[in-house]
Amino acid sequence: SPIPDYLRQVVENARPADSGEVAGYIEVLAKADASKMAVALATVDGKMYSAGDDEVEFSIQSISKAFVYALAIQDTGLPQVLEKVGVEPSGDAFNKLSLQRSTNRPMNPMINAGAIATHSLIVGPNATAEQRVDRILKALSRLAGRQLRVDEAVYEAELKDANRNMGLGYMLKAAGIIDGDPQEAVRGYIRQCSINVNVRDLAMMASTLCNAGVHPVSGEGIIPHQSVRQVLSVMTTCGMYDAAGDWVSNIGIPAKSGVAGGIIGALPGQVGIAVFSPKLDERGNSVRGVIMCEKLSSDMGLHMMDIS
Ligand code: GLN
Repeated sequence: SPIPDYLRQVVENARPADSGEVAGYIEVLAKADASKMAVALATVDGKMYSAGDDEVEFSIQSISKAFVYALAIQDTGLPQVLEKVGVEPSGDAFNKLSLQRSTNRPMNPMINAGAIATHSLIVGPNATAEQRVDRILKALSRLAGRQLRVDEAVYEAELKDANRNMGLGYMLKAAGIIDGDPQEAVRGYIRQCSINVNVRDLAMMASTLCNAGVHPVSGEGIIPHQSVRQVLSVMTTCGMYDAAGDWVSNIGIPAKSGVAGGIIGALPGQVGIAVFSPKLDERGNSVRGVIMCEKLSSDMGLHMMDIS
């Protein structure tokens, strides 16, 4: 198959782009090897292709938000989730301390405020961080097709320096959005962000979103169809934070990025994409990751607004 050769070109084409900065807010992320780069594709008929450093693991970070949103809908019901978390793009940075003026809800589940609220809806209001993360870890592992683990070093470091996210937790508690203990919700959210993945795991996970919630390899129905639609819609409008408009017009694939340098794309009916490179642009998205996705989208005609 010519696809692996092509994917190597996708990697090499993005390599010269050396701008951006590795996330520096915790030491474990700051010392990530910025030369690592990888890409993976997982098709809805169960084929997997990858190139570059496709075995290198990194923390899933904000990419988890998309999948945890799907789980919250499953555990709590869509109307109940919508009462707590909106679906409007915020145009703000991912860690902005903000709530919607009229309803007190976080704007959407892809910014931290919305993701912490979403996390608190997993299992139930009085669940512990361990119970929620156990549920999340099992579900993400089923999606990836292998047992995933929490990176304890990332978790400990994030927890030590969690003032901003704890602030978001207390803001949500004061607004009546989180019912249980806000510290427990933030701890669980941070643990959810600390799950380690490689690009092959992420592409596999994305491919289930492309396949109406049915895992392309195991054939198992994992995410209900209604949640898939909801998640892909919110990824389209909010997945790339304040770069969502540029992303959807240039690349045109529902996507979600994380601060460790991963990005997933999920094109319904076609292919799950994952890219990785640690250096981020000023909006928090992987610089080379965006370039790799641009190339994939234009070469393969993946823009969702194009006729295929
Ligand atoms: N753990 C990070 C945070 O909450 C995740 C954010 C991200 O990936 N953008 O700040």
